[in-house]
Amino acid sequence: MSNEKFDAIVVGAGPSGNAAAYTMAKAGLKVLQIERGEYPGSKNVQGAILYSNALEQIIPDFREDAPLERHIIEQRMWMMDDESFVGTHYRSDDYNKPPYNRYTIIRAQFDKWFSAKVREAGALLICETTVEELLLDGEQVIGVRCDRLGGEVYADVVVLADGVNSTLARKAGFHGELDAGNVALAVKEILFLPEEVIQQRFNIKEDEGVVIELMGKVTEGMVGTGFLYTNKESLTIGVGCMLSDFKANPLRTKPYELLEKLKKHPSIAPLIEGGEMKEYCAHLIPEGGFNAVPRIHGAGWLIVGDSGGFVNAVHREGSNLAMTSGRLAGETVIAMKAAGQEPSLKTLKAYKDKMDESFVMKDLKKYRKLPEVLHSSPQFFTAYPELVNRAAKTFFTVDGVDKHSKEKEILGSFRSKRSLTGLVGDAFKIWRASR
Ligand SMILES: Cc1cc2nc3c(=O)[nH]c(=O)nc-3n(C[C@H](O)[C@H](O)[C@H](O)COP(=O)(O)OP(=O)(O)OC[C@H]3O[C@@H](n4cnc5c(N)ncnc54)[C@H](O)[C@@H]3O)c2cc1C
Repeated sequence: MSNEKFDAIVVGAGPSGNAAAYTMAKAGLKVLQIERGEYPGSKNVQGAILYSNALEQIIPDFREDAPLERHIIEQRMWMMDDESFVGTHYRSDDYNKPPYNRYTIIRAQFDKWFSAKVREAGALLICETTVEELLLDGEQVIGVRCDRLGGEVYADVVVLADGVNSTLARKAGFHGELDAGNVALAVKEILFLPEEVIQQRFNIKEDEGVVIELMGKVTEGMVGTGFLYTNKESLTIGVGCMLSDFKANPLRTKPYELLEKLKKHPSIAPLIEGGEMKEYCAHLIPEGGFNAVPRIHGAGWLIVGDSGGFVNAVHREGSNLAMTSGRLAGETVIAMKAAGQEPSLKTLKAYKDKMDESFVMKDLKKYRKLPEVLHSSPQFFTAYPELVNRAAKTFFTVDGVDKHSKEKEILGSFRSKRSLTGLVGDAFKIWRASR
């Protein structure tokens, strides 16, 4: 490492760090990016859906060479009990018209591609190097110390894009400790299958793709969801629940056991049958929402992506919030340099203002009450999926019982599990927490 001073040091080469580094390097700033992995993407896990809009605003022509798997034409949402599911499917040929809105990606390949763009834009990337701490002059962050001999590097601004554990910000006292009630633990597998098998099973052709979001009894009452995504020649399947719920679950089910259970579900098993598992990973996701977002700026530092808790768990969006926060952090530093300003707390507040104005904070704010409501209402993950599935079975089974009696039976089963006030109260709670 040299004694050279940079305009900005970006810690981490995930979507948020790459977005920040690219934005600044493209504008001619002297940028150093430090990644602890062997290469960008080597340490990263994602489902993974890429939302085009956030990337378009950084690299408008990304579709020309980005490693994209399938564009999504159909969204399914399944509420599951142990044997069945009740679901909605939304499929539209509008999603078959370019420019496509969402794609599946494989993060290891995507991060590598994004990182190449960052380097083309002029940033210097150093891999296999861990930033161990921030260098401070009083309250001002002036650089970083890495795990290399002579590893002190200086910059006007350090952008912390180091992911959900956010060790550096915690060490520096910018955040509190990770709270198990604010993070989900997710496990996922990539299962390889021939392209034509995937197309046949999911009723798609060429590069079309399907997303299935899953909730219900599979999470054993814990707040969490599952997912199944189609890649070109593989499927991604995963499940995640709040870490505090895993700890408190009386069944003591391990995350990989939940995934095994999901894979054996009679509605899932035929879709993944014969899939060869080539990748398994577990990762935390910051799902504390609006109330868990820490301070994201200070003298000489900015926090972006998962490190700032920018994940919209309801819509399963993370990488787009990461890229948007990275871009806005980059633009803040560019404007600061252009105006000849110092990287003070006051100057860098422009980043927080931009974030507050963006969809990122607006969406997190919209759902700010939801985590608490879901935590205090396990019935959404147990009783309701069971009741809805039982109701569907009663309604659709033709067995000589008249329809009026069936309706009475369905109503009765709901009321046996939840009183009328309970039912109305639950609907109201969800409505109020999602406004
Ligand atoms: C199972 C799973 C499924 C998901 N599915 C989706 C999805 O479908 N769509 C979506 O939009 N989002 C999804 N997400 C969320 C998404 O992955 C994250 O929001 C996104 O990756 C955040 O990007 P980031 O750059 O902030 O952090 P990361 O991608 O975690 O990158 C952080 C980087 O920093 C590096 N690093 C950490 N500490 C240091 C250090 N001290 N020194 C140097 N380098 C360091 C790490 O090696 C890593 O490369 C999913 C997450 C999980 C776990």
